[in-house]
Amino acid sequence: MIGPENTTLEIGRSGCDTAVLGIGSFEQHSAHLPMETDFFFASRVSREVAASLEAMLLNPLPYSTSLEHLDFAGTVTLKPDTLRSAIWDIAESVDRWGIRYLVLLNAHGGNFCLIPTARQWNMERKQPHLLLVDFFSGLSDMGDNLHAGEVETSMMMHLAPERVRADKPEDFVPKWTRADLTHFGMKGISPTGVWGYPSRADAAKGEKWLTEAVEYSVQRIQSLKRAIEGRVARDA
Ligand SMILES: [Zn+2]
Repeated sequence: MIGPENTTLEIGRSGCDTAVLGIGSFEQHSAHLPMETDFFFASRVSREVAASLEAMLLNPLPYSTSLEHLDFAGTVTLKPDTLRSAIWDIAESVDRWGIRYLVLLNAHGGNFCLIPTARQWNMERKQPHLLLVDFFSGLSDMGDNLHAGEVETSMMMHLAPERVRADKPEDFVPKWTRADLTHFGMKGISPTGVWGYPSRADAAKGEKWLTEAVEYSVQRIQSLKRAIEGRVARDA
């Protein structure tokens, strides 16, 4: 794997055609998890995925779109247009030195704007191909754990237990759906910022989910690349 530790000469010589960009966030994760929770997952998963694919690791984005969490102290958001511009600027940069696939490895479920961001770019046939991978899509048995619940708490207990506060908030699953975050924001739906079951979290579950996140992402990227290369070959 090559990455931020390498020099420009080493990167140039590597012939690497795939780069992995983790996308984190800086947003509230209730009373027991830190602001950088999604960034922490994006960092760990993108490093393991890049290593497994012998791809280039880029430093992950520490901010993304967290508009629905702005009522909680500490949250910092980019507007969707800003995130789209940042992704496109990064894509144009890596295209200059030979990257053909830029993986957007998303660790924050609120980044819906990544779909039109990648879709417009790819349908206009710009290079590199943007491969949008939401690693939470690959996790089994997630239940109603949308935010700071069993899944994220377990993963953090596995990766960095010292970062998980002992006093966990109460379990909370609202009657509203995820789509209603658009109408009320997280605080309007869940005053503690939890959506799910933090009381059910443990480190062993976190290890299982982290393994699934890496395996799912690697398989998805390989399968997308194979399909795209097949199409390119047929067109040629
Ligand atoms: Zn999160």
